[in-house]
Amino acid sequence: MRVFITGGAGFIGSHLAEALLAHGHEVLILDNLSTGSIDNIAHIKGRPGFEYFIDTVENEPLLAELIDRSDVVFHFAAAVGVKLIVEQPVHTIETNVHGTEVVLKHANKKKKLVVIASTSEVYGKSNDVPFREDSDLVLGPTPKHRWAYACSKAIDEFLALAYWKERKLPVIIVRFFNTVGPRQTGRYGMVIPNFVRQALAGEPITVFGDGTQTRAFTHVHDVVGALITLMQTPAAIGQVINIGNTQEVTITNLAGRIRELCGSTSTVKFIPYEEAYESGFEDMPRRVPDLTKVHAMIGYEPKHDLDDILVQVIDYFRGK
Ligand code: UDP
Repeated sequence: MRVFITGGAGFIGSHLAEALLAHGHEVLILDNLSTGSIDNIAHIKGRPGFEYFIDTVENEPLLAELIDRSDVVFHFAAAVGVKLIVEQPVHTIETNVHGTEVVLKHANKKKKLVVIASTSEVYGKSNDVPFREDSDLVLGPTPKHRWAYACSKAIDEFLALAYWKERKLPVIIVRFFNTVGPRQTGRYGMVIPNFVRQALAGEPITVFGDGTQTRAFTHVHDVVGALITLMQTPAAIGQVINIGNTQEVTITNLAGRIRELCGSTSTVKFIPYEEAYESGFEDMPRRVPDLTKVHAMIGYEPKHDLDDILVQVIDYFRGK
């Protein structure tokens, strides 16, 4: 198949491109390098069957042409990272909503399958853990910008499902849960690359809040494997699907484990949320996926546990 990835020079997009090429597919990517990076695709740039375009999804003639040339579209171009989202709320809302609108509009002309990248962030601060795809979304008030991200992604989901329902455009919505691995940058606030960099540099490891909040981290290779199977699974069309890992860890324990695996002497420093992000910032206390649906659909089970992920990320940062 020929697969088109918007945001293909991003962290997840570039891993997907690489895996698709390895599976014998052709890959086209479009990326404006806002949070993506040419380094992410440096190793696949000359490969047969790979083409890249540095431009934005706002370039509709180009977008339409690339969609036309493809069998499947992965729409990964989006504003990501809590830090970026809090600092640039206008950009976040406009990029996420408008980008999805134009991708769906052009894909609809020839009914090309679109896989929309959504996020576990849409579950918001719900206490109903683990989160099932049909759980309620519990978001905070509009003056708190963090929730604009969840809301923008929820609109993307609504719009994609509307295209499926009303116009029979095949869509699949995937909700990612803290996807991590080699090549992820800490620049946009993500915790694991930041902690690893700090631990290797002997700097204090910055735990935000009291560190009792938990996350369940998923190796990007597990995510990418699921995506490649899902794009060939007719039962996934019209569905919202969690992709993640259920191994839950508190952020304090994560800091300790990274310190240990790095053999670091870093101290752990607790920083109040209002200092780390902005006044009134709300975090989610727990975030764990229910994976029943994706398991039943494609037999998905994550292969990489947390230590495995951390060792690989530490190796990656050591090599840089
Ligand atoms: N976090 C932290 N220190 C950092 C970066 C993040 O303690 O330097 C915390 C953050 O407040 C959150 C968790 O780690 O509770 C995961 O943050 P991340 O931005 O990676 O993803 P999120 O789950 O918030 O989307």
